[in-house]
Amino acid sequence: MFKKILIANRGEIACRVAATARRMGVRTVAVYSDADAHSKHVVACDEKVHIGGSAPRDSYLQWKRILDAAIQTRADAIHPGYGFLSENEEFAQACGDVGLVFIGPSPAAIRAMGLKAESKRLMQEAGVPLVPGYHGADQTPSLLQREADRIGYPVLIKASAGGGGKGMRAVQSPEDFPSALASCQREATSSFGNAAVLIEKYVQRPRHIEFQVFGDMQGHVVHLFERDCSVQRRHQKVLEEAPAPAMTESMRQEMGAAAVAAAKAVGYVGAGTVEFIVEQRDDATMDFFFMEMNTRLQVEHPVTEAITGLDLVEWQLRIASGEPLPLLQNQLHIEGHAIEARICAETPDNQFLPSTGTLHVYRKPRATSFERAVGDAVRIDDGVREGDTVTPYYDSMIAKLIVHGTTRDQALARLDAALVATHIVGLPTNVQFLRRVIRSDSFSHAHLDTALIERERPVLFGRGATLALRNNR
Ligand code: ADP
Ligand code: ADP
Ligand code: MG
Repeated sequence: MFKKILIANRGEIACRVAATARRMGVRTVAVYSDADAHSKHVVACDEKVHIGGSAPRDSYLQWKRILDAAIQTRADAIHPGYGFLSENEEFAQACGDVGLVFIGPSPAAIRAMGLKAESKRLMQEAGVPLVPGYHGADQTPSLLQREADRIGYPVLIKASAGGGGKGMRAVQSPEDFPSALASCQREATSSFGNAAVLIEKYVQRPRHIEFQVFGDMQGHVVHLFERDCSVQRRHQKVLEEAPAPAMTESMRQEMGAAAVAAAKAVGYVGAGTVEFIVEQRDDATMDFFFMEMNTRLQVEHPVTEAITGLDLVEWQLRIASGEPLPLLQNQLHIEGHAIEARICAETPDNQFLPSTGTLHVYRKPRATSFERAVGDAVRIDDGVREGDTVTPYYDSMIAKLIVHGTTRDQALARLDAALVATHIVGLPTNVQFLRRVIRSDSFSHAHLDTALIERERPVLFGRGATLALRNNR
């Protein structure tokens, strides 16, 4: 096992990784920007190294400085968290070149899955089902339009190098295609430095169901079941749960096998997520299609930890230090139901505009641990303390509330109570919005799909929303 790791990230995920490292007796090094000089993640680690200015490109994306910091502090390995450098193959390669372990997959696996078009070609070869679409290299606009016409409208244009819900355009009819293509290419170039796009059939009211996978250096791959992340705003996840409501054991086996095949196709090592888009049919069966693979730990990994009783960061550290997978597929089991809510500094009523300010009051529900040895009934993962300032430089997510119960209804009741016990004064957050979502008919009855927030709009936004919540008390 490593003696010391550097955590190349900030906020809740840096604190999360530090907590497991401390429990395992592994020392930690924090890196921080100007804005983060006094942040919670810096205090959570044993050592700290300043790496530059507040903007990510001046600090958390400055991978040469981060490498230097790791060498200077004699760390054995680097944990990249999510976002920032986590899916940067050049950084993963550079770690290896200077004798540091990158806690994640090989640079080749990151490259293979990094471009959506590339990964789809690979998955096709591996026999994993794909959404009907075009993911070829030829990017001639007239050809792209012909492909869209062939697929049939509505279609979705995606930036091949995209992520975080950016660069996607839904197109309803052929006349709208040229302008949507141009606008997608512009955003793809400015956000990802790569104009390449792919085109997919736009699935109506799909569910987003993803599988957690783990591979080891001995060549074994297992899956740790699924998460439903259908509740989204602007293609970004808001609530995640495990297991996925209405998932049958035979569907789980089929999709799990496809996820494992996807990981094996690229010789995957470490934690990864295979995302599927799912069309729910009337007879309760599902059609599922590979969407993308994220080659890192996900924001929503705690719901998987809750239902499996496992610490996924511990698995990452063990596997990266050469140990085999701690458990085989038939030793893994689902217990109960877990839901995560992402608490963000934002104004839902104003198109979820991110907000900044000081957390004058920050009261959280009490974390509780009962029913079982591992897995809390209420867990809070955050990267802030009362009195801290939320700056405009980073992601608006400041905390995650994770609940676990024997049943979905019990988890839901715990989530509602936990949100009621969350008080934040000083800047707008989505806490009340989250309460309305989980109390909506669609969510409470598990009618999950990516149009849920749109469908429940009248009870979620504006004046109607305030009344709905009051009458519900
Ligand atoms: P998940 O939430 O499923 O882990 P997301 O796509 O929401 O995955 O990304 C997690 C974090 O990584 C977010 O902070 C998001 O903004 C960031 N992120 C993901 N992909 C990219 C990307 N290609 N470029 C910049 N940031 C990204
Ligand atoms: P990102 O890298 O930004 O996460 P994804 O390809 O994973 O991009 O898609 C993000 C979200 O967009 C999905 O979770 C889903 O809600 C929606 N989406 C993606 N592909 C389709 C599709 N073909 N039809 C309908 N919705 C889709
Ligand atoms: Mg995705």
